[in-house]
Amino acid sequence: MDELTRRYLAQQVELGGPEVILSGKTPVQAASGPKPPPSTEAATSPAPAAGSAAPPRGRLTAAGGPRWMVGAPPIPGPGLAVTSPEAALLDNDLHNLDSLEQVAERIRTTYCCALCPNRTNAVPGEGNPTARLVLIGEGPGATEDATGRPFVGQAGTLLDSILEAIDVPRSSVYITNIVKCRPPQNRKPLPDEMAACLPYLHRQLDIIRPRVIVALGGTAGEAMLGVRKSLGELRGKVHTYNGIPLVVTYHPAALLRNPNWKKPTWDDVRIARQLLDR
Ligand code: URA
Repeated sequence: MDELTRRYLAQQVELGGPEVILSGKTPVQAASGPKPPPSTEAATSPAPAAGSAAPPRGRLTAAGGPRWMVGAPPIPGPGLAVTSPEAALLDNDLHNLDSLEQVAERIRTTYCCALCPNRTNAVPGEGNPTARLVLIGEGPGATEDATGRPFVGQAGTLLDSILEAIDVPRSSVYITNIVKCRPPQNRKPLPDEMAACLPYLHRQLDIIRPRVIVALGGTAGEAMLGVRKSLGELRGKVHTYNGIPLVVTYHPAALLRNPNWKKPTWDDVRIARQLLDR
């Protein structure tokens, strides 16, 4: 078995996929396979636009289609349609910031809510400024607060595996959070904290103008869509944010707690991946 095939099957183990690993002559259920090695692809290759690069041969089926598409659900019907607040109605000057770096600098140098004074580092977000895919989490955890980078702890490692499994290098996407400073003990951000920080996210999305947005977890989904609904109600639909398709799925940290959610997440990200190709 070649290295790419082995890594793909190992990702299926990680993500709870249906593939089996053939070990010698004995078929073995994927659930007992090895963990994937850390990927170096995203770190070493230039950042292609997500979805635009042909997948490596080891990630193609015998018929030539991408492996991630095998058994993928069809794109579901429409959900909620939201628009960001009009810049003119906002009591801020963020619309004057033309680049993600300028927005990041503003975040790092401003206190906008009670979370800010307690941060080690603000975590504005990182990635490709022309990303076709933007992923949005809830808020920084301990490792993110220590480093100033999003999704670099355990949940980030799982997120990297998920992205690799759909042939999307981390370097090609933009990753950020609803709140840019760590809530104490990783508690859910409070409504006023999210409200204070959301204008930064609106500006970031307006600068990037991605093709697809994925909200990771119910908190991110609710904040993006401006509703109070369960994750179950928000999943399985293609919402729109300023006309951009938005898919809500489980937060990677939730998958670490409950592996039963890996399969539905795998379905959700494959819906998002198909939307990138549309
Ligand atoms: N969880 C999040 O929601 N965001 C991060 O950046 C890390 C963990």
